[in-house]
Amino acid sequence: MLKVPREEFVPPEYRRFSYYDTPLPIGFGQTISAMHMVAIMTEKLNPMPGHRVLEVGTGSGYQAAVLAEIVGARGHVWTIERIIELAEFAHSNLKRTGYIDRATVVVGDGSEGFQPAAPYDGIIVTAAAPDVPKPLLEQLKDGGKLVIPVGNRWVQVLRIITKEGSKLQVEDVLPCAFVPLIGKYGFKNY
Ligand code: SAH
Repeated sequence: MLKVPREEFVPPEYRRFSYYDTPLPIGFGQTISAMHMVAIMTEKLNPMPGHRVLEVGTGSGYQAAVLAEIVGARGHVWTIERIIELAEFAHSNLKRTGYIDRATVVVGDGSEGFQPAAPYDGIIVTAAAPDVPKPLLEQLKDGGKLVIPVGNRWVQVLRIITKEGSKLQVEDVLPCAFVPLIGKYGFKNY
């Protein structure tokens, strides 16, 4: 996180708050997550150099850049966003900061995952889900981890699921509040 310039992922009018540990608006009613939340989720995902990672909820592209920094040139990050304008914003931010070769922005409903690049070593969902979407578990490698806020629209618990063969190991880490995951396996609308 010390290597990724957060100010490059924050809209100009909020740039002076880039290093405040708080979420910031990025337009379309969405937010870039607070830095401590990015740190906790990244640590729990435990990405390694060479890993293939999926992020659901690209937003500004900041979390994707942090993951790209860790997985390195041999790894890759796919990040999926449902709002085209935000996907374009993230793409340009990732390009300007030099991460675009390691991070691919996809437009679509990430509650269904992203099958073309599956299976993944890790999947991180940065929007609140009512339940764990089944396709995300299916697109995880054996031993892979899913990090996801699960709950209602206002408050959730950050859940870490490790796939161990046909078994799932579940750990609930802390309460959190994310914008909703909208889609087939998410909430239906605002
Ligand atoms: N990780 C982002 C912040 C994410 S905010 C960052 O680092 O800036 C959550 C994002 O999830 C929003 O941009 C929202 O549009 C997106 N989102 C909500 N439902 C989605 C879905 N079904 N598929 C893909 N993106 C979704």
